[in-house]
Amino acid sequence: MKIYEKAPAKINLMLDVLHKRPDGYHEVEMIMTMVDLADRLELKELPGDSIIISSQAGYIPLDEKNLAFQAARLIKERYQVRKGVHIHLDKHIPVAAGLAGGSSDAAAALRGLNRLWDLGITSEELQTLGAELGSDVPFCVTGGTALATGRGELLTPLPDPPQCWVVLAKLPINVSTAEVYGRFRSHKVQSHPSAQQMIQAIEQGSFSQVCERLGNVLEDVTMELHPEVRQLKETMQRLGADGVLMSGSGPTVFGLVSKEAKVARIYNGLRGFCKEVYAVRLLT
Ligand code: ATP
Repeated sequence: MKIYEKAPAKINLMLDVLHKRPDGYHEVEMIMTMVDLADRLELKELPGDSIIISSQAGYIPLDEKNLAFQAARLIKERYQVRKGVHIHLDKHIPVAAGLAGGSSDAAAALRGLNRLWDLGITSEELQTLGAELGSDVPFCVTGGTALATGRGELLTPLPDPPQCWVVLAKLPINVSTAEVYGRFRSHKVQSHPSAQQMIQAIEQGSFSQVCERLGNVLEDVTMELHPEVRQLKETMQRLGADGVLMSGSGPTVFGLVSKEAKVARIYNGLRGFCKEVYAVRLLT
């Protein structure tokens, strides 16, 4: 038996870091939504008890460091499943990009194995399991649009934002999420983005207000480490994107664009600057 699961990338419409907690995690407030750029997972039953991960992408770990492997191991242990699985990851989401590619693969593996092995696990339980694998995994289990608080695992579902194009551009640099959070200093933040105002903009279906209220307090940290991320953001603004923001801890920068006619110009303009550019829709 063989099944397929789609693992879409997420973007942050806003990201605020409140403070560091005694457990070492940062307390965050994020509004996340998904875009139509996805990895595809093929899950196939194996006769033995092993977990095998393969991928056409040469640059991700295929052993127990892979988040899809960890998802399979967790679900097998917790639900005492004595079956094997081969998970093939057809990667399309750029890696270490601030788009939660690994987390979305883990979430898709949890959903897929629940179906493949007919375990009857509820979405809430899958989210709880996912929280053990990473802060973004619970959101990726259900997707949609949500406010995430705590370390990112406490979710409040939100309505879909107004439909638009999303142009994503990733520079060929590696950004370590841990380093960005480690260098973050809350007293240096000039202005915090407001979750409430973004929620209001979404609820009112106002594309222009969503664009105005985009904000990510990690931008300054990443841009200080990698000034080319700032240049990329400015280029996207100059090319006419309606709202531009860095996603997560970067380095991917995305632009929201309402008019299809503008998308090709922005896409082509960015291609001169950066090799990895994608023009997709919000996944609503
Ligand atoms: P986030 O936005 O959640 O911080 P990210 O988009 O910055 O995530 P990922 O693409 O998830 O980062 O990759 C982060 C690291 O996780 C990579 O260095 C990679 O080696 C490792 N990794 C483990 N499993 C996977 C996977 N299935 N796909 C991609 N990377 C993975």
